[in-house]
Amino acid sequence: MIRSFQDVMADARRAIREVPLDALKQRLDAGEALTLVDVREAEEFRAGHLPHAVNVPRGFLEARIEQAVPDRDAPVVLYCQGGTRSALAARTLAEMGYTRVESANPGFAQWKDRQYPVVVPRAMSDAQRARYARHLLLPEVGEAGQAKLLDARVLLLGAGGLGSPVALYLAAAGVGTLGLVDGDTVDASNLQRQVIHTTDRVGARKVDSVEQTLRALNPDVRVVKHCERLTRDNVDRLFDGWDVIVDGCDNFPTRYLVNDAAVMKRIPVVHGSVFRFEGQVTVFAPYEGPCYRCLYPQPPPAHLAPSCHEAGVLGVLPGTLGMLQATEVLKILLGVGDRLVGRLLTYDALAMKFRELRLRRDPACPLCGEHPTITDYVDYEGFCAAGG
Ligand SMILES: [Zn+2]
Repeated sequence: MIRSFQDVMADARRAIREVPLDALKQRLDAGEALTLVDVREAEEFRAGHLPHAVNVPRGFLEARIEQAVPDRDAPVVLYCQGGTRSALAARTLAEMGYTRVESANPGFAQWKDRQYPVVVPRAMSDAQRARYARHLLLPEVGEAGQAKLLDARVLLLGAGGLGSPVALYLAAAGVGTLGLVDGDTVDASNLQRQVIHTTDRVGARKVDSVEQTLRALNPDVRVVKHCERLTRDNVDRLFDGWDVIVDGCDNFPTRYLVNDAAVMKRIPVVHGSVFRFEGQVTVFAPYEGPCYRCLYPQPPPAHLAPSCHEAGVLGVLPGTLGMLQATEVLKILLGVGDRLVGRLLTYDALAMKFRELRLRRDPACPLCGEHPTITDYVDYEGFCAAGG
């Protein structure tokens, strides 16, 4: 039996559920947890698409849908330009065992005409396509993810042992704006581990040295330099407008200041520290996981605090920990994977062992708890001098 296109479409429309655009918009506005799948070609998607949609071109539907929507009972709404390709795609997904599939009818053209919200991804140049090719091949990153990275703003506290690998790899990955807070100059004793600096830059400001290296590595990256120490007086100015903060400066006064300001401004902090042959890393996500004060509400009395003096550190150690921090930053920016929220990962280089400790949020936390008592920045500046 020969069947025309009209016959095939009529069959498909009978077999699937369709959703009108106004109803779809209402459900999205209400925050319904559904996966929007754009089944048009990649070039069409690039020219503009619905917010939060993922692109699975119809030609790749069977091959890629399980990666985009692993749960076959999850609600999925497909759309295309006019409602035809998505209707056929919806029937295919039903055949594959997806139980809650709908097809938007009409499609994107009408959606746009009605001036409903549309996202136009940044146009990527040929040079960027080549540079980030290995990211574009990952469905979890792809063009949309790379665009997120290029638009992202990450603030690095400290351009030292941890900051060096973090800055190098985030710049290589195409994180578009990297802020640096470091008031130091490059010292010969830094070069054993702070791999972003070079011998000929001893004596130069660290922020300038980092900028020079990153500019040579990736011209897409804008470096915002702050050659100053973080204090309660400048923390508001320095922290505003960043997506993620990477904390690589390890002393008590700044640790509390970073924590307090980041919680108040609701910016996630990827925290790392190293000591001799050991290091640890965790992610402080404000009001989602514990903050530093949930664990240690107040600094210990100065005479019990660990020394603020410089300690020895194996040269490669901050490299390992910095890479873990950079990994968490990319996951946060891309919205993929399980972040290290509420988990402290410790690393022992001599034993070559990783361990994970659970960290819990404290409802009685003086900062992020139910009845906070800390509402302004506390000055622990004299802390090291007193304890030294
Ligand atoms: Zn807390």
